[in-house]
Amino acid sequence: MTDVDYCVVGAGFAGLTAALRLKQAGRSVVVLEARDRIGGRTFTEVRGGGLWIDRGGAWIGPGQDRIQALMSEFGVPSYKQYTDGAAMMVVDGKQYRYQGTIPMTMSPWAVANLGTVFLELGELCKTIPLDAPWEAKRAAEWDRISLAKWLDDNVLSKPARELLEMAIAGCYTSAASEVSFLFVLYQMASGGGPGFVLGVKDAAQDARPVGGMRAIYEPMAVEVGRSLHLSQPVRVIEQDAEGVTVCTDQSTVRARRAVVTVPLATASQIRYEPMLPVDRSMLHQRMPSGAILKIAVVYDEPFWRADGLSGQSAAPGSAAMVTIDASTDALTPGVLCVIVEGPAARALGRMTATDRRGAVLSELTERFGASAAAPVDYVEQDWTGERYSGGGMLSHAPTGVLTEFGAALRESCGRVHWAGTESSAVMCGWVDGAVRSGERAAREVIAADALVGVDRG
Ligand SMILES: Cc1cc2nc3c(=O)[nH]c(=O)nc-3n(C[C@H](O)[C@H](O)[C@H](O)COP(=O)(O)OP(=O)(O)OC[C@H]3O[C@@H](n4cnc5c(N)ncnc54)[C@H](O)[C@@H]3O)c2cc1C
Repeated sequence: MTDVDYCVVGAGFAGLTAALRLKQAGRSVVVLEARDRIGGRTFTEVRGGGLWIDRGGAWIGPGQDRIQALMSEFGVPSYKQYTDGAAMMVVDGKQYRYQGTIPMTMSPWAVANLGTVFLELGELCKTIPLDAPWEAKRAAEWDRISLAKWLDDNVLSKPARELLEMAIAGCYTSAASEVSFLFVLYQMASGGGPGFVLGVKDAAQDARPVGGMRAIYEPMAVEVGRSLHLSQPVRVIEQDAEGVTVCTDQSTVRARRAVVTVPLATASQIRYEPMLPVDRSMLHQRMPSGAILKIAVVYDEPFWRADGLSGQSAAPGSAAMVTIDASTDALTPGVLCVIVEGPAARALGRMTATDRRGAVLSELTERFGASAAAPVDYVEQDWTGERYSGGGMLSHAPTGVLTEFGAALRESCGRVHWAGTESSAVMCGWVDGAVRSGERAAREVIAADALVGVDRG
C-alpha cells in the first residue's frame, strides 16, 4: 500500500495539472491512469518523418489563459491556424465559397436569419451566471427544451437552420434533440459566447501548440515523475473518517483525499464506498458523451492553399462533415483534418474501415479536387470506442439535468473531490477548462485539509 497526501485519478490535462500543482506546493501525490498513455482526450501521435498528429483536442484560442500559462511554464510556442483563402459550405450538393464565419453566398434571407440568430444567442449567453447556470432567470424554461426545439422555433430559413444545427450540435457531438438548450447556452457562455465556440480565427481554433498537445502534457508528466502510474484503472474508492483508499487491480493507495478527473460519462465505472450522495450518483447517470471521429488525411503538400481554399469546409450529415487545415507549422506535408460528429459519426463508425476511407476520400475529392483522392497517410481516431473517454468531446447535459443536478458538478463528496473539464465554469469542455479544474481541485484539497488542521505542507 502506498501512503501519500493525495491520490489523483486520471492523467489527462485535469489530472496532470492537479498533480503538478500539488507537487509544486510540496504535497506527495500518486496519479493513477487507466490507459497505457497520458493525455486522455488529447493524444498526439508522432508518425514517420516526425509528423505529429493530434488525434483528440488540438486547438487553443484567446481567453484560454490557463493552458497558455502552462505553455509559457514549459516553453511551448504556438503557431496560428491557417485561415487564408475561402471556406466552403455544401448545401444540397451545391458548393458555396465564402470568407469569415457566415457563408454570405447563401440566400440573403438565410444570411440575415443566421446573423440575427447568432446575435440573439450571444445576448442569451450574457444572461447565464457561469458559476450557477441553473440560477439564470430563464433557466427552467431553457432546460425544458432541447437545442433542436429552440432552433425549430427560432430559425426559419432551412439552410440556416441546417448549418446552425450542424455547427452547434456538433460541439456536443450529438443530435440537437439530445442536448438541453440551457446547457448549450452555458457551455457557449463559459467560452465567451457563440463567436468563440463556433469561430476559428481569434476564436476556439485560433492556434496550436508547436508539437501538438503532447508538447505540453509530456513535460508536465516528467515533472510529476514517478508518482504517475499507467495502466491502472481505478476500480474502487473507499472513504472513511481519516482518508481514502483507492484500489486498482494491482495496487492500493491510501491518501487523505482523492481528486477524480475522469469524464462524467465514465465516472460510474468506479465503485464508490460508501455510495456517493444521490445527486452526484445520478449526475453520473445523466451526462453522456456523444460520438466523434477525427481523421487526419496527409498529403505531400497542402494543395488546397494554392487553389485559394483555407481547407475549412462543412457539409451537414456527410462523411466529411467538417474539414479544417491541420498542417503543422512546417510547410509540408499538408494535413486535412476531417471531423464527423453525432449521428453521422455513428453511421460512419458502422462501416468497414475500407468503406469508410472510401466514403471520406470521395467527399474530399468532390470538394477539393482530384489531388484529394491520393493521400500519403490516413489516421483515424474513433472516440466512441474509447472505454475511458466514453465518447467525445465532452459530456453534455440533456434536458432537465442542469437545473436538477448541476449543483453537484463541483461539490466534493466528503474526501472525494472532482475535476475534469466538465466541472469548470470557465472554458467548460475545452483543454483550458480541464487545466482550470485541476488547479481549482488542487487548491480545494489543500484548503480542506488546512481547515481541519491536518495539512503537513
Ligand atoms: C476529437 C476531440 C477533439 C477536441 N478538440 C478540442 C480542441 O481543439 N480544443 C480544446 O480545447 N478541446 C478539444 N477537445 C476537448 C478536450 O480534449 C477535453 O476537454 C480535455 O482533454 C479534457 O481533459 P480532462 O483531463 O478533463 O479529461 P480527460 O482528458 O478525459 O482525462 C481523464 C483521464 O482519466 C482517465 N480515466 C478514465 N477512467 C479512469 C479510471 N477508472 N481510472 C483511472 N483513470 C481513468 C482517462 O484515461 C483519461 O486519461 C476535443 C476532444 C476530442 C475528443
